Amino acid sequence: MQKQQLLYSGKAKSLFTTDDENLLIAEFRDDTTAFDGEKHQKLSGKGETNLAISTHLMNEIENKGIPTHFVKSLSSTECVVKKLKMLPVECVIRNIATGSLCRRLGVQQGLSLRPPLFELFLKNDELHDPLINSDHAISFGWATEAQIATMREYTFKLNDILREAFSNAGLILVDAKFEFGIHDGEVYVGDEISPDSCRIWDALTKEPLDKDRFRQDLGKVVASYQEIALRLGISLTA
Ligand code: 5GP
Repeated sequence: MQKQQLLYSGKAKSLFTTDDENLLIAEFRDDTTAFDGEKHQKLSGKGETNLAISTHLMNEIENKGIPTHFVKSLSSTECVVKKLKMLPVECVIRNIATGSLCRRLGVQQGLSLRPPLFELFLKNDELHDPLINSDHAISFGWATEAQIATMREYTFKLNDILREAFSNAGLILVDAKFEFGIHDGEVYVGDEISPDSCRIWDALTKEPLDKDRFRQDLGKVVASYQEIALRLGISLTA
């Protein structure tokens, strides 16, 4: 497979075209950002660790029948993915209240959410990814009613699969953000599933091992991501 031009450079990943118009190469970089890109740092080994975790989890959910864009690994920081037309919304699922939910609604930190709470956000850094509802998405043409129904169904299933995988590794999935795209008219899980996009706590100490360590200057960011990988049984090359 031939890596061709840079198609898009996001905050933590770059996408390259290939000689196959249906496939792209995703490069996971060490760039780490928070607060809509205002805080930025390069953390050595972050890209490689996130790719390893995301690959492991994408395989796991694909095996459970949810279609993902992941095709194959290429190197320690690159993988081949299906080219998707991304839907400009973020699907968040929450098992425990924290983060923007507590800031927005004043609800108690650490509250257990049963059933888990599904939220939709518009993907727009300039507007700080505002909370939207499905009617906004439909009326503005960001996604169809059927696509929203599928994303919602997949998000709950992904939450069940990932909660179990993390629980078996002595970890708690607090919340997670998923992005979806369309390929041949079907909805696929895109982007990544990693400690950059999920909140993951140690089950015993409730210590955050995810990007909150970066957001809140808690230190040991990559070491914590590596700890998650280790507990999931993933062997890292570095
Ligand atoms: P919150 O809405 O509390 O800030 O985030 C909820 C969950 O979604 C957290 O796991 C957070 O990491 C993830 N999340 C929300 N927005 C973004 C985003 O723009 N980028 C990434 N990587 N994750 C996000």
